[in-house]
Amino acid sequence: MQHRKIAFIGAGNMSKSIISGLVKNGYPASSIFASNPSRPKLDELHNTLGIQISQSNAEVVAQCDVIVLAVKPQLMEQMCSDLAASNTLDGKLFISIAAGLPVKRLQEMLQGQDKVIRTMPNTPSALGKGMTGLFAPENISTADKEYAGQLLKHVGEIAWVNEESLIDSVIAAAGSSPAYFFAFLEAMQQEAERQGIDHDTARLLVQQAMLGAAEMVCHNPQLEISELRAQVTSKGGTTAKALESFAAHNLSDIVAKSMQAAVARAQEMA
Ligand code: NAP
Repeated sequence: MQHRKIAFIGAGNMSKSIISGLVKNGYPASSIFASNPSRPKLDELHNTLGIQISQSNAEVVAQCDVIVLAVKPQLMEQMCSDLAASNTLDGKLFISIAAGLPVKRLQEMLQGQDKVIRTMPNTPSALGKGMTGLFAPENISTADKEYAGQLLKHVGEIAWVNEESLIDSVIAAAGSSPAYFFAFLEAMQQEAERQGIDHDTARLLVQQAMLGAAEMVCHNPQLEISELRAQVTSKGGTTAKALESFAAHNLSDIVAKSMQAAVARAQEMA
């Protein structure tokens, strides 16, 4: 990929994950900049990954072609307005990772800068196992889209959506969903413990089962997930009994309603 000079505004958890992925995969540290109001996070990034750091957003933006907007959504407006005042933004590509802020709103915050791509990563990005949804409006060039896609591929898989509203569905399916799996595992671990298995063994059982199931899904893309389920479900067996109980309690409906609640919350935040 092209190694454009890139500035991360906000050196928090998500920036750290993406920057680590970039450096580990050969993006030159000399082309990566980060700014943050407080010093310790910057020092850690500089000392461990060798990137360029500054406590001044304007200073890093002036040196870069691509700007990753990585502060909390509620701080974005003030941060963008301060940046716009520096008069160094023209022609730059902005990549937002902020939840809930539409492209149009970001363009307004950036006082008319229109090259804005919206992305939604998730926390497994920290392990290189992330899933990022991306949306680019029509004015974004193919080269800029390819660059943004390649960038996020450093921390996992990517998927483009062609309507911005679908980013909310990406949040429901991938942004928030690691926590759904945690909730499911918690419930399984609790029940295994209730049945007499000790805490650590119960955790090992459920985490390894989840890992194995995820690997089976990933390694068999030609099979629908329902086929994988059917393959491990003998008629009248133990798995069949457990799945019958899920169906009797409307598991699909519970999941659908939960994802709809996540979408509704994302829409409220926009
Ligand atoms: P975070 O760890 O709190 O990082 C945000 C960073 O921004 C902090 O280091 C903060 O510095 C810094 N900051 C605050 N004001 C700033 C300013 N004016 N200029 C420059 N930097 C400033 O949050 P995060 O989890 O990385 O989230 C960052 C963005 O990613 C958010 O918009 C969030 O919606 C999005 N996102 C997060 C996740 C996730 O799972 N974490 C997933 C998808 C999207 P101080 O701490 O020193 O104040």
